[in-house]
Amino acid sequence: MAFESLTNRLQNVFGKLRGKGKLSEDDVNEAMREVRLALLEADVNFKVVKDFVAKVKEQAVGVEVQKSFTPGMVVVDIVHKELIELMGGSATKIAKASKPPTVILMAGLQGAGKTTTTAKLAMMLMKGNHKPLLIAGDIYRPAAIKQLQVLGEQIKAPVFTLGNDVSPVEIARQGLQFAKANSHDYVIVDTAGRLQIDEALMEELKQIHEVVQPDEVLLVVDAMTGQEAVNVAKSFHEQLELTGVVLTKMDGDTRGGAALSVKAVTGCPIKFVSMGEKIEPLESFHPERMASRILG
Ligand code: GDP
Repeated sequence: MAFESLTNRLQNVFGKLRGKGKLSEDDVNEAMREVRLALLEADVNFKVVKDFVAKVKEQAVGVEVQKSFTPGMVVVDIVHKELIELMGGSATKIAKASKPPTVILMAGLQGAGKTTTTAKLAMMLMKGNHKPLLIAGDIYRPAAIKQLQVLGEQIKAPVFTLGNDVSPVEIARQGLQFAKANSHDYVIVDTAGRLQIDEALMEELKQIHEVVQPDEVLLVVDAMTGQEAVNVAKSFHEQLELTGVVLTKMDGDTRGGAALSVKAVTGCPIKFVSMGEKIEPLESFHPERMASRILG
């Protein structure tokens, strides 16, 4: 289960604190040392951990002075509040262009779950009575177009393709025209995945970006890859100005590092989470719910 080890460790720390009628500075220091280790072990970025613990500690020391009847609980509340803050505060909504269609550009490394997420996103939009068009822009991976078409059929969303021989920039341009002519209010552009950050493909993404002028640029990253996912997000954000990150494979036993580091390291919020291989509507990312889940 996701965050299992982190949750167990934090519950342990707070279990000890909760029972105390009074907190000494030593109690707070000891608890913060354990929180720090738990976060590092969950693969949270070390700088993020350092800042987080410093913030909590600053407030927790105040609790000791306040002489609260339940100081341990107050410290847990502080951690809860700071975890929410760390993950971006409140949930964010998908963009909506003032003049439709709203264009969403999807990016990500191969295997991260980009195609699956594209279909899930379309489903989410359809559930909200929107009429999305999927544009098949990955002409490099054999069967990528077919995969999108199969998913499109499954969820009953049309897929625009010009095959493998037309450049993705041209496909995106014509796809957008098609969407306008057929009153689609959302366009989701699927792009080629990469094995790693690749200059040529990044350049292509920039050109597609230029042509479709997206309202939303979503990077799909695999939560199971922890700090690697965060580094990927950082590199993409530097080159493409992402508007959001989608964390996939949150149904797996990810330790939590990506969920807890992406926003702080990149400045870019996590907007959605994907929780399985089955195609169902994508879920919004709620920092508050995630923080509660982490605390168990
Ligand atoms: P792409 O190469 O980025 O387009 O990745 P795909 O969408 O083809 O997904 C790669 C693999 O990850 C497939 O086997 C998907 O079924 C699987 N996958 C995608 N999203 C999730 C998820 O949220 N949870 C799990 N467990 N598997 C996922």
